[in-house]
Amino acid sequence: MQQHLAKLKADGAVITFVPTLGALHAGHLSLIKRAQKLGSIVVCSIFVNPTQFNDPKDLEMYPRPIADDIQKLKQVNCDVLFNPGVNEMYADNEKWHLDIGGLEGLLEGKFRPGHYQGVTQVVHKLFDIVKPDIALFGQKDYQQFLVISRMVSLLNLPVKLVMCPIEREADGLAMSSRNIHLSPADRKHALILSKTLNKIKHEFNPDNISQLKQQAEAVISNEPGVELAYFEIADGDTLHPADKNTKSFVALVAAKVGKTRLIDNVIIND
Ligand code: AMP
Repeated sequence: MQQHLAKLKADGAVITFVPTLGALHAGHLSLIKRAQKLGSIVVCSIFVNPTQFNDPKDLEMYPRPIADDIQKLKQVNCDVLFNPGVNEMYADNEKWHLDIGGLEGLLEGKFRPGHYQGVTQVVHKLFDIVKPDIALFGQKDYQQFLVISRMVSLLNLPVKLVMCPIEREADGLAMSSRNIHLSPADRKHALILSKTLNKIKHEFNPDNISQLKQQAEAVISNEPGVELAYFEIADGDTLHPADKNTKSFVALVAAKVGKTRLIDNVIIND
């Protein structure tokens, strides 16, 4: 992969990169389409990275429809697929730690200990292999974008990061590879997440943050089949709980719907 891309780069290609765990949907494909506009060669990686899963069951259950994925990548004319095996990516007993500051213990970091260490570990490796000029990530994983931005700035990595908007189903559900695990009843109950985020965006008032947050928590907790992990109205740069003096706001939610853990968020003001 390094040799192949180095040759293209020497010929003047601008490499854009979309890392994924596969089970591709229209959200992933929107990143690839955006990447095609920003550069000349688009690389997509599909790698279900074991080090970012803190729950072995979740890792085992993660969908891996590689033949369908290849088909979808062909349909959108993605130039290069990188689909390594676990043994190619990791040596035995490899150690990794990056100081990601407060983001480590907040929100997803708190509920999925070690998750962002695994994410930075694999994204660092992937960047080292692909050496992209531009890497694209979804707003869907808002905290992940902040964590990767921090890694890029801490390690002075020569890559530009681009955040792409959340693709949703017609009824508002954020697209996710995990949605296939939702039963028809779960699928209906899951809508409470995007509905509540939307409501918060429209009713947002910086003087009323704690009340809005409490109302949102109550509405989501009362939805049958939904177990709320967190709902937060946070500072868009630090993810610390927002207050009156915060400049950019983002509302983020995580919940288990049936057996499936879902996340979603909305940027309240850019
Ligand atoms: P994943 O395979 O879930 O790791 O996602 C790969 C990339 O696609 C990440 O940058 C995600 O944030 C992004 N992504 C996932 N779901 C969506 C979505 N519904 N809309 C836009 N981007 C998404």
